[in-house]
Amino acid sequence: MTELSKLISDLVAIDSVNPDLVSGGVGEAGMAQYIADWGRAQQLEVAVQATVPGRPNVILRAPGGGGGKALMLNAHTDTVGVAGMDAPFSPVIRAGRLYGRGAYDMKSGLAACMLALLAARDMGLRGDVLLSAVADEEYGSIGTEVLLADWARWPADAVLIAEPTALDISIAHRGFVWLEIETQGVAAHGSLPEQGVDAIAKMGTVLVELAALDRQLRAEPTHELLGSGSLHASLIKGGEEISMYPAFCKLLVERRTIPGESDAHVLAQAQSILDDCAASDSQFQAQVQATFSRPPYAIDAAHPLVQSLQHVATAHLGRQPALIGSSWWMDSALFAEAGVPTVVLGPAGAGAHAREEWVNLESAAHCQAIYTQLAAVFCA
Ligand SMILES: [Zn+2]
Repeated sequence: MTELSKLISDLVAIDSVNPDLVSGGVGEAGMAQYIADWGRAQQLEVAVQATVPGRPNVILRAPGGGGGKALMLNAHTDTVGVAGMDAPFSPVIRAGRLYGRGAYDMKSGLAACMLALLAARDMGLRGDVLLSAVADEEYGSIGTEVLLADWARWPADAVLIAEPTALDISIAHRGFVWLEIETQGVAAHGSLPEQGVDAIAKMGTVLVELAALDRQLRAEPTHELLGSGSLHASLIKGGEEISMYPAFCKLLVERRTIPGESDAHVLAQAQSILDDCAASDSQFQAQVQATFSRPPYAIDAAHPLVQSLQHVATAHLGRQPALIGSSWWMDSALFAEAGVPTVVLGPAGAGAHAREEWVNLESAAHCQAIYTQLAAVFCA
């Protein structure tokens, strides 16, 4: 077994199910302990950063000699749940794949970062190479939020996130805005139609217009990698009993956004649908508010960080990695929002949120080499 396979196996064997995602999940403390112990054993600088109780981040640092740029490698330590899996924390290696919860998302990327840091320690670089192993990416990104709140302690000039990308370079992903729309009616007995106003039926009109907006957005893609934004209804409730006109209806909507679509823009679009409904129906009353949002992420393909990564990856792989957009949200958006240039490259595999999860070990070894080379170039 290679040093990398051994390390991935060790990490997969540690239960770190996100407790906000799955009630009863044990959280990231075991991972933090392992990574901190490992860092100390390797004579790296180790800092344990508290987030919420029992869910610390760990930051490892291979200090440079001074005068160079600092690169931070980043990986999350939590995983999604394990329902339906036979032996989620008993890693198995078969035919070049390592199976187990978190093998792909993203303990293999984390292990590759750890070994790259170790290599960087001995390269005589001017700049620092850091690794932030953060909690809670799969739910609320508490870990990266705390890391960024204390960024002055580890002011890296760039971040590489080791989320799986099948060795391509992700330079964009969508954000999202959660909207809550409420229509008001007038409660009345079902036998009194002249008195009642049906809040659920009013929401029907809103739903038709939201579906039209989704079609319109998707018919006019504007972003080279991400296409367009989109939206869908998620949850709805309203009404009190079968013989009553419902006085309210509440709808939750998720709007996925592309770069350039701000929260204010999304809210204004929804408000204009409500305004149109009100203009053609004097009994229509509704409000919309945004309850939570995360920004989209994008870095210019011509950015020196992207160019450096593409250069070292091409040299190592013997093929040019594609510059891609990812469909899911990642912590990259938070680093980018904080003004830190960020790229994403990680291993190949499958089953990130499925019953069978595996990573291609060869691709993880490529990641280790590519991260090491990027550090050598960036922090020289
Ligand atoms: Zn992930």
